[in-house]
Amino acid sequence: MSLAKELEKRANNCCELCGSSENLSAYEVPSSPKSGIDASILACKTCIDDFDAETKNANHWRCLNDAMWSTVPAVQVMAWRLLQRVEEDWTRELLEMMYMEDDTRNWAEAAGDGEEKADAVIHRDVNGVPLAAGDAVLLIKDLKVKGSSMVAKQGTAVRRISLDPENEKYIEGKVDGQQIVIITDYVKKI
Ligand SMILES: [Zn+2]
Repeated sequence: MSLAKELEKRANNCCELCGSSENLSAYEVPSSPKSGIDASILACKTCIDDFDAETKNANHWRCLNDAMWSTVPAVQVMAWRLLQRVEEDWTRELLEMMYMEDDTRNWAEAAGDGEEKADAVIHRDVNGVPLAAGDAVLLIKDLKVKGSSMVAKQGTAVRRISLDPENEKYIEGKVDGQQIVIITDYVKKI
């Protein structure tokens, strides 16, 4: 069976991102560690044309609301990358909710779409372990929260952190219901 045929079967002859059944073709996900059907998705022309568009058609990508829950890693990777690039409040919310296996996340974060990630900001915990958005960390010392009398206690678990895209030393997370900035030197990944 050809790749296109295999994909059509997996995808039930629908675009795996938006569900359209018109102008479908196989699309190989950039920077894939896999090959063949595992590295490709079935996508419609509307989706494929917008992959490289400078200004994304944000409305069209509302379809990612469904596509991100696909069980196919290649689809998850494309959904994640597109959500990253369609910078809207709702895409940020979806990214926070999105779940991927570690392998899939690494693939999604690999340089794709011809963009070099050489200058990427990498956040690391006190032991040098890379941190990703959505990770949980433990505070390894009491931290005074700037601008308030609050102290975030050593041993507090902070779940679903977000990363400061500009500064590799800063992450954010909720402690006692309050969003605070935390320095990566004072956390350990759980
Ligand atoms: Zn589509």
